[in-house]
Amino acid sequence: MLRLLTWTQNYLREKGSESPRLDAEVLLAHVLQTDRVKLYTQYAEEVGAADRSQYKDLIRKRAEGAPVAYLVGRKEFFSLPLNVSPAVLIPRPDTEFAVVECLDVLKGKADPIIVDVGTGSGAIALAIAHQRIDARVLATDLSPEALAVARSNADCHDLSDRVTYFEGDLLAPVADLGPFDVIISNPPYIATDVIPSLEAGVRDFEPHLALDGGPDGLRVASRLIEQAVPLLKPGGDLILEIGSDQEPPIRERLSCLDELELAPTIRDGAGHPRVIRARRRTD
Ligand code: GLN
Repeated sequence: MLRLLTWTQNYLREKGSESPRLDAEVLLAHVLQTDRVKLYTQYAEEVGAADRSQYKDLIRKRAEGAPVAYLVGRKEFFSLPLNVSPAVLIPRPDTEFAVVECLDVLKGKADPIIVDVGTGSGAIALAIAHQRIDARVLATDLSPEALAVARSNADCHDLSDRVTYFEGDLLAPVADLGPFDVIISNPPYIATDVIPSLEAGVRDFEPHLALDGGPDGLRVASRLIEQAVPLLKPGGDLILEIGSDQEPPIRERLSCLDELELAPTIRDGAGHPRVIRARRRTD
């Protein structure tokens, strides 16, 4: 077992993985249907032939660049284990900053109604619903395949009665259900011509629908801002994840709208501008 892990670690390092030991452990734990720590505490014995062959298959795919989250079909977000498939973006820790901001603005608001636009795996919607049991969350996505993943996650976490899914473009499917306390989104924000230069694991495996923000990367966010303003309650907030270079143009767009008051930009764990919030004025 330890020899197998060490061999895989060296192999994946050669193939360019930045976390070869972790990859090896997560994939082996997946095959053996256990968790990483138990690999060391409970599995001193050899790995059987069938498991070894399934493991080698996964290692080959990982060596070809497939993200570990797709290979095991799982990723944790805001302490919730979520199902993921190549139909959805793998939830990122950066996006947790948007959830924290949302939970913060919801303090003191009872029975809030929130929309997660472009929900993908359902990560943002489910994290909020899980933390705030009085919240009602609506989640939209263009992709029926993504919505199927999001629904499966709502079922797994017993949140299906408080999170409702709608197929369609941005806020269009929920326009009659507003106004809302929070509209939150991690929209596609990568400029189309930057996509070919993304890290291979992202570029070759993650859904471009969830990444491609048009020629300037701002196309989806701009449309969303326009749709969101009339659907916010007075005192309600729009919370957007942005690309690290998009703080000036997004703030400029938001500050042109008299109805909105901008909050300071939130930085991610690496110190990059990552989340922008604007509140609809009450007067
Ligand atoms: N953060 C993602 C990445 O860098 C992009 C997510 C998005 O476009 N919303 O790959």
